[in-house]
Amino acid sequence: MSNLFDPIAGENFGECTTCNQPMATEKDMHDHWASNEGKGHRVRVMNPPRAQQIRNHVQRSVDEAMSSFYSEMDSLIAQGHLTEEEAKNAMKTAFVDVADGWEEYSSA
Ligand SMILES: [Zn+2]
Repeated sequence: MSNLFDPIAGENFGECTTCNQPMATEKDMHDHWASNEGKGHRVRVMNPPRAQQIRNHVQRSVDEAMSSFYSEMDSLIAQGHLTEEEAKNAMKTAFVDVADGWEEYSSA
């Protein structure tokens, strides 16, 4: 397995944008929030754990696929093949479950 989605070894998880304190791990972030409760300290995550890197990638890919779908629908509407109202009505009945879709795709 490659290390594409692994966090960079030796690099901090993130840092506080309010007081610039570096945080080695996600736990450090929660501890920092706990000790600065109510003071509005915000953390910028630069090197998230593997699971979060994978979630970010999946979300970006789904967003891109949706953007491509909307662009295609926009073209069909612009070409006069259907009205925006017809497209919107059909979209309301479209069902998307990314995980179920994967099960179907990967077992075919
Ligand atoms: Zn802070």
